[in-house]
Amino acid sequence: MAPSRPNITLSLLAVAFACMMYVPLSRLTPAYAFFAFSYLVLFNYSIFSIAIRLKKIVSILLPVIFCMSLVGAYLYTFLNIKISDNLLFLLLETTTGEANEALTPGFILSIVTALALSIAAHIGIKKCETPPKLKWPIILLLLLIPINIALSKFSKHPIAKQLRPAIATKYAFPFCVIDSVANFSIRWVQYKTRPKPQSSALLESEYVFQKQSDPLTLIFIIGESARADHFQINGYGRNTTPRLSKEKNVITYGGIKSFAAMTRVSVPAMLTPATSKKPNIKTNSFLDLFVKYGFSTAWISANSRVAYSSDMPTTRIMGNAQQTIFRNDFTTADYSEFRDEMMVPVVQKVLASTQGNRVIVVHTRGSHFNYSTKYSAKYRTFTPDKYKSYSNLGTVINAYDNSIIATDGFLANVYDMVKEQNALVIYSSDHGESLGEDGIFMHGNDKRPEQRNVPFIVWYSDKYAELNPTYVAALKDQVGKRLSHDVLFPWTVNLGGITLKNTSLPVLIAN
Ligand SMILES: [Zn+2]
Repeated sequence: MAPSRPNITLSLLAVAFACMMYVPLSRLTPAYAFFAFSYLVLFNYSIFSIAIRLKKIVSILLPVIFCMSLVGAYLYTFLNIKISDNLLFLLLETTTGEANEALTPGFILSIVTALALSIAAHIGIKKCETPPKLKWPIILLLLLIPINIALSKFSKHPIAKQLRPAIATKYAFPFCVIDSVANFSIRWVQYKTRPKPQSSALLESEYVFQKQSDPLTLIFIIGESARADHFQINGYGRNTTPRLSKEKNVITYGGIKSFAAMTRVSVPAMLTPATSKKPNIKTNSFLDLFVKYGFSTAWISANSRVAYSSDMPTTRIMGNAQQTIFRNDFTTADYSEFRDEMMVPVVQKVLASTQGNRVIVVHTRGSHFNYSTKYSAKYRTFTPDKYKSYSNLGTVINAYDNSIIATDGFLANVYDMVKEQNALVIYSSDHGESLGEDGIFMHGNDKRPEQRNVPFIVWYSDKYAELNPTYVAALKDQVGKRLSHDVLFPWTVNLGGITLKNTSLPVLIAN
């Protein structure tokens, strides 16, 4: 193997990392872009020139970071998804089915290219003989680091506002990858060592419903990636809610603000007393509280039961779910074949097997990408709906809207099952979805309003209205108010007849 000059390999890598910042660089004026690009190349080169002294470690680590950065750059450039510790958590908890659906040809190509280039980088670094002299890299860093510090210190200054997204180490490859992995590691340790949430049964409360002639059935449906403004009953121009539009006992609250833009963060908060002001999950889901007052409880999930399920953010707050039914318990359909409607007979079975007051949580698949695999032929209303990339926006939205129609059908099927009973069905989505706004797709970015604008729909049976008119009136009173996921826990327990005492939660029915 002929030795190569380290300057060439390291320079190539420095330039490659700088090129990965194409998106923020392209937003700058030519003069700023030139400055930022030069800054990135010189900064990267200086760091690599110093680090190469630990050649054995660098020859492994740098190609690994290079590979991760390339994949991250693909996500950033084409899908506007930024590398973060949250994204790493998401990848860790993504099921193989979800991963298969995210693997578009472009994404697969980016991974293969990233691997090939990383191997080339590894060979290149191994061939480096004598490291570059220390003097220049150190002088350069002494000049460059203060610029970065100044930009973060005066982050509100117009120049900093422009340059920071391109050159701040927090955002620029490869440092954003290192930063994300470091934060992820810290949070992972915290996550693994966190105390178990306490039982919601310990909350001060009182059961206030009189013994009713008909036991209460309360069904809480967790939606997925559904945005409120794509529901016709919320004013959307397309007929995406043909069934709900015909239901007389449906109350829709338009768009309410989701707790977060990610399932793993939002779902636990939806079912527990965590709020946007007190976001830590300290208490488990409302199921424990209902069990305390004699309700039977069940949890039905479109997700498969996994060996470490008690450790997932959602399942660790399940609490006292007396029946837990996961996808692989009732169907052999794999991820891409699964439709929410397959849970209708499961809900039916749970209803048939329980008596007395009961609460059922149903965690759906809703409108999770890839949208066109989330509905069966009967809900395929808007066509064409088969897309391979996100460039054909109309097709993507057709598929997304069809998935909302499937949700409409699922909700209506559940209503039909309990129509003659004393029953309530509460539905809200965990987060929304970007559908091409500013070139952004999918979810995971808390700052995007369309990813935080979720439907909240309550349906009640005639019997429930007859037995609890003040509760239905209280529900109607809240229409038009600015609401958020914060209300889901207190309202659900209220509507089930439980009054919380000494609470700061936004209750529906006060003590
Ligand atoms: Zn989700």
